[in-house]
Formats: sequence, structure tokens, C-alpha cells
Amino acid sequence: MKTTLIICIFALSFGALYANSSTEQNSKAKVADSVKIDPVCKMKVKTSTNLKSTYQKQEYVFCGKGCKLKFDKNPEQYLKK
Ligand SMILES: [Zn+2]
Repeated sequence: MKTTLIICIFALSFGALYANSSTEQNSKAKVADSVKIDPVCKMKVKTSTNLKSTYQKQEYVFCGKGCKLKFDKNPEQYLKK
């Protein structure tokens, strides 16, 4: 009985160590791929997109060409709440 218990504890602690190291890798990947909100449709868009506009020194990202065009025509409309 005792041996089984020791093996169980060993397996659990090893599993916890392994889980910790894999979550660390995941959080690093998230930092590299950050997300901003599309001001037109409020969708989350990756900042790696090519669809960007700068207005009043602020950079905005868009999910598609349609949203970018709408924003460029009348940015104020989408920045007001
Ligand atoms: Zn959009």
C-alpha cells in the first residue's frame, strides 16, 4: 500500500511541474500576438494586421477593408461613445 501512495505522489508532483512549464510557454506566445479592438465593429483584431489607420497619434486596427474605409471617412463617429 505504501509504495502505491508514494508513486501516486511522485506522479502528481511531476505532472504539476510539467503543467507549469507548458503554461509558461503559452503566456509568452500571447505577448507576441497582442490584440486591439476594431473601433468600427468592436471586434478583436491582431495587431499584426496590415489594416491600420493612425488618427490623432493613435493607431487603430481593423478586421477588414470595409471597417478601415468607414473609419477613414469619419473617424470621430467611431471614437465617440
Ligand atoms: Zn470591423
